[in-house]
Amino acid sequence: MSGLYIHIPFCRKRCNYCDFFFITNTKRKTEFLNALSAEISLLSDQYSLEKFDTVFLGGGTPTVLTSDEISDVIKTLRDNFNIDHNSEITMESNPEDFTDGSIENYLRAGINRFSFGVQSFIDSELKFLTRQHTAEMAEHVIRNASGLTKNISVDIIYSLPSQTDEDVNCSISKAIESGANHISAYSLTYEKGTSLYKSTENDPGLLKDPVRDSEFYFKVSERLCAEGFEHYEISNFARPGYKSRHNMKYWTYENYLGLGPSSHSFFFKKRWNNVRSYSGYVNSLTEKILPVENLYEPDTDYVKLEYIMLGLRSEGINFETYRKLTGEDFETKYKAPAEELCSAGLAFKCDGKLKLTEKGYSIADEITARYF
Ligand code: SF4
Repeated sequence: MSGLYIHIPFCRKRCNYCDFFFITNTKRKTEFLNALSAEISLLSDQYSLEKFDTVFLGGGTPTVLTSDEISDVIKTLRDNFNIDHNSEITMESNPEDFTDGSIENYLRAGINRFSFGVQSFIDSELKFLTRQHTAEMAEHVIRNASGLTKNISVDIIYSLPSQTDEDVNCSISKAIESGANHISAYSLTYEKGTSLYKSTENDPGLLKDPVRDSEFYFKVSERLCAEGFEHYEISNFARPGYKSRHNMKYWTYENYLGLGPSSHSFFFKKRWNNVRSYSGYVNSLTEKILPVENLYEPDTDYVKLEYIMLGLRSEGINFETYRKLTGEDFETKYKAPAEELCSAGLAFKCDGKLKLTEKGYSIADEITARYF
């Protein structure tokens, strides 16, 4: 089955490290929701034979929308697409948007998985990242949510300037104690064009130390695995039964359809994206034209490399999937590199897959570049 991604393009304020697409004028919510409805109805015929079992409301900040607005979006999706009754329906959530009763209302609206953008449970770190919530707010909301659903993910960022091992451990402990059964742990990235990136030009001391970064990576993995989480993608850890079914589709080369400005799609062997412009998106849909650009069908060489890269970063290269996608036998074609990686302790074979070890995960991109 396939996945649906909906990009909700609003944030109240830009975090200094973020380069995602959104606008801050939340007064345009109704206009956006009308455009989204138009996009859904334009797409519904084309996808009438497809079945979807994940919906991911991302952004931006989906919790800028009220539970009634979210309920309407989910209803419109269900009315126009074949969405399995057992679907995972995730909403990226900012702790500062929740008041008493919000969790219940969003659950009633149809959300069954919350992905909280917490990043840290230390106030000075949240201030450095210019987040709008405090550690206490995040803990309160997640504890409240975990009393009502177990399907909770928390994002954590490590490798902040002057951060210690204890600081990262503190955030992980709080995430677990609050009730997270899924944790996404990312190393801080300095994306070009962000204000954090610009501040490194005046203060190079802010830049990451690659040795410390790698130490953080191993310590986070070690800690979460010791706590019973499975490391199932470079940055993602889940207790049994709590992997992100939606994100797995990206990593295992399954179909997904993106709606909303700047969203990406992969369907019918083609890739494309929606325009990364709010007015471009709304104007196009006002004229009943899909706001699509960069539509192309990747050639076999591209598919091969992309599947290998995604597989190595997650649950391994599945030989059968590789054969279906490329017509080649992976084990014959890459016999020598696979053996070299296995004997170096960087990979292993099991269940018809070549999978990286923890050591291999930490240099997955170098492995792809060097061996494939
Ligand atoms: S809330 Fe999320 S999407 Fe919005 S600016 Fe911050 S990191 Fe970016």
